[in-house]
Amino acid sequence: MHINDEENVTPSPFADPQESHRELDRMRPPDEARAIIERHLARMPSEPVALADAAWRILAGDLVASEDHPPFPASTMDGFAVVADDGSPWREIIGDQHAGHVLDVEVSEGYTVRIMTGAPVPPGANAVVPVEATELADDHVVIHQEDVAPGANIRPVGSDVRRGDLILPAGTTLGPAEIGLVANMGVNPVAVARRPRVCVLSTGDELVEPGEPLGPGQIRDSNRFSLTTALAAEPCEITFSGKAPDRRDELERFLRERMELDDVIVTSGGVSMGELDLIKAILFDADDVTVHFRRLYLKPGKPLNFGTCGETLIFGLPGNPVSSLVTFELFIRPALRRMSGALEVDRPRLRARLEEGTPASDRIEYQRGIVTAGPGGRLTARSTGAQQSSRLASFVGANALLVIPPREIPYEPGEEIDALMLAPPRAQP
Ligand code: AMP
Ligand code: MG
Repeated sequence: MHINDEENVTPSPFADPQESHRELDRMRPPDEARAIIERHLARMPSEPVALADAAWRILAGDLVASEDHPPFPASTMDGFAVVADDGSPWREIIGDQHAGHVLDVEVSEGYTVRIMTGAPVPPGANAVVPVEATELADDHVVIHQEDVAPGANIRPVGSDVRRGDLILPAGTTLGPAEIGLVANMGVNPVAVARRPRVCVLSTGDELVEPGEPLGPGQIRDSNRFSLTTALAAEPCEITFSGKAPDRRDELERFLRERMELDDVIVTSGGVSMGELDLIKAILFDADDVTVHFRRLYLKPGKPLNFGTCGETLIFGLPGNPVSSLVTFELFIRPALRRMSGALEVDRPRLRARLEEGTPASDRIEYQRGIVTAGPGGRLTARSTGAQQSSRLASFVGANALLVIPPREIPYEPGEEIDALMLAPPRAQP
C-alpha cells in the first residue's frame, strides 16, 4: 500500500476538480490517516513557565540534576547523632540540631547531638539512634540499642539524586511527583512545550444553545461541550468555542480568522454528502488549504476531513456526537500530544476477550466498551449497548474503545481483540 500520494491532491486551478474530488473520496485506512497527520504537524516551541503554573505541562528538555540531593548527610529520624562504635554507657548532649540550621559542634565518643528528621548530621557523628531506643536523664542520654551500625538512619549526600543524573526526560508530563523533582532541583521557571492553541466550532442550523428552548426541528449543541471537555484533559489551550449556522460566508469568515490565530481548528458537522455540508466544500475550495483526506475505512467517523493551512491543522469532524468524540480520540488527541512532544502519545492497548459476539464490517470499528479484569487479571470486554453514532449514551461508563477489525465473518464470544483503554479496567465485583 502506498501512503505518500496525498501530496498530489492539493486542489489547484490547473487540476481538474473532479479528479481531485475522486482522489479525496478514496477511502483510506485510519493508520494511513494518522501517518498523514503526523507528517503535517509542527512541534511546539518551548516556553519558560513558573513552577506554580506548570502543572500537567510537558517538559521541553531533559531535566538533569545540577546538584546532589540531599546536599548534606541528613537524618531520617528524630533521635541522637552518635559515633557508631562508641561503647560509652551514656552520652552527654552537646546541642540540638534542627532542620535548616547548622550547629558548630563536633560529635566524639561519649557525646551526642539531639537531631531532628531532615537535619544535617554534625561532623564526627556517623549514625543516628532513634529517640525510641533511648532514655533521657538530665543532660545525658542512655542508648538501649545493642549494635549501632555506621550510617544508620542517615541519608548520604546524593542518595536520592546524584548530580548529573537524568531525572526526567523531555516529553515528561509534569504531575505531582515530577513537578516536585523539578522544584527539588531548583529549576524555576521550567521550560515546557507551548500548548497548541485550539478552537472548537459546532456547525449546523439545527443547533440550539443548551438552556434555550428548542424550536421545531432543532437539537441542542452537545459536541462543543464534549469536545472542550475532552480537550481540557490534553496539553492544549482552548482559545475559542462556539457554534455557527450553515452559512457559507459565516463559516468562511470564522475559518479565515482562526487560521491566523490557532494551531488546530476543530469543527463538527458539515462534512458528509449533504447539500449544506459546507465545511467540506469550504476546505476544498480554499486556495490556501490543502485537504489531505476526507473518507476513512472507519466506523464511526468515515467522513473525517483533514486539511492544513500553513502550519494550522484543520479537523472537520462528523456531526454525530459519537463520531466526533471517537475521531477526536483517534486523531486529534494523539496529534496534540505529538505536537507537545509528550512521551505518551497513545492510549494503552490491552488484549481482551469478547463477552458477546459482534458483527464485522468492511471498516475498522471502534465500539464503546467496558473492559473488566476477572480472576487472574484476565480481561474481558463487552460493548455498552447500541452503538449508533448518534447515541452519546454509548460512551457513558465506557472505559475503552474496542477495536473490531474488518472481516467477512462475525466475531464470536471469547475471541480476543484489542482495547484502547480510556480508563483503567474495571475490577470484577
Ligand atoms: P452533519 O455531520 O452536519 O451532517 O451532522 C450529522 C448529525 O449530527 C446530524 O443529526 C446533526 O444534527 C448532528 N449534529 C451535528 N452537530 C451537532 C452538535 N454540535 N451537537 C449535537 N449533534 C450534532
Ligand atoms: Mg450539519
